Amino acid sequence: MKAGRTFVPKIHALKYNLFSMPAHEPSYLTALLHLRCPRCRKGFLFRTANPYKLNHTLDMHAHCPVCGQKTELETGFWYGTGYVSYALSVALSAFNLAWYWIFFGISWKDNSILYWLLINAGIVLLAMPYLMRLSRVLYLSLFVHFDPQAIQQPAASAHASQT
Ligand SMILES: [Zn+2]
Repeated sequence: MKAGRTFVPKIHALKYNLFSMPAHEPSYLTALLHLRCPRCRKGFLFRTANPYKLNHTLDMHAHCPVCGQKTELETGFWYGTGYVSYALSVALSAFNLAWYWIFFGISWKDNSILYWLLINAGIVLLAMPYLMRLSRVLYLSLFVHFDPQAIQQPAASAHASQT
């Protein structure tokens, strides 16, 4: 069990370094948007790459495949993400309203508000699987902070590092 865990992270660390992450340390925002572990900013926390496989959207590794950070810090930990995904949906709607207003204009005299509502609902719905994943990683990052040493010392302090 223990030997298996130490072997797997090395493969993942190599893979992510080569293909999806710059060689230097990714920023908080880059790591967040790529749904990486907030502790090492390298490990991809979900079991499937594509969030639109809806049966597996929220299938997460129990531990970060690179540094071994636990993902569900305690039972029921993810309930708090409901508020985060709600806030993200509101922010996305505000963003959609802004560009719609700029490009098409908003007026009570025509159907522009109705069109915005429909377009916004469509965009939010399409973005939802990604937003649900993003809100989990964002929520986790409130409790687990970046540790540049996390990859050099995997698993050793992984289970204790929850602050
Ligand atoms: Zn990690």
